[in-house]
Amino acid sequence: MRIYTNLSRLSKYKSETPNEREMSMLSVAGALALSSNCTPHKVGAVVFKRNRVLARGYNRLGGHPFQHRWNQKGATLHAEMHALLLAHKDREDVEGADIAVSRWAKSGTDGCSFPCNHCLPALQYSGIRNVICFSDNHVPVKVKISCD
Ligand SMILES: [Zn+2]
Repeated sequence: MRIYTNLSRLSKYKSETPNEREMSMLSVAGALALSSNCTPHKVGAVVFKRNRVLARGYNRLGGHPFQHRWNQKGATLHAEMHALLLAHKDREDVEGADIAVSRWAKSGTDGCSFPCNHCLPALQYSGIRNVICFSDNHVPVKVKISCD
């Protein structure tokens, strides 16, 4: 039986209910996810600081070499990494920013969208403070990932 580990990973962090602005960023991330060419999971991500969007990303097949070593089959660039790379390319300061991540599962429903074990440290090292995402039971949550 496959155990979905995101629930236990999420429970390690402090979480709260997102506010209206954060919920709208989560909706934008959901719309962006539909641009993905990845069939099993379509993921969208928006890096934002208060009302300002710094970068948008979505997951895509045939990804960045950065991700190849972790994805053995069907390498994809994850939405969070895509957004971070675009933010850095545009010289945006992501320190103290938040990221909204939404995922569409193959079934057409939104699944848990907490970042994977590879994206999470990249977000933390970049100075991202909170992740706004869906929990395993499809509840929108704001999860504090910064260590301060
Ligand atoms: Zn990831």
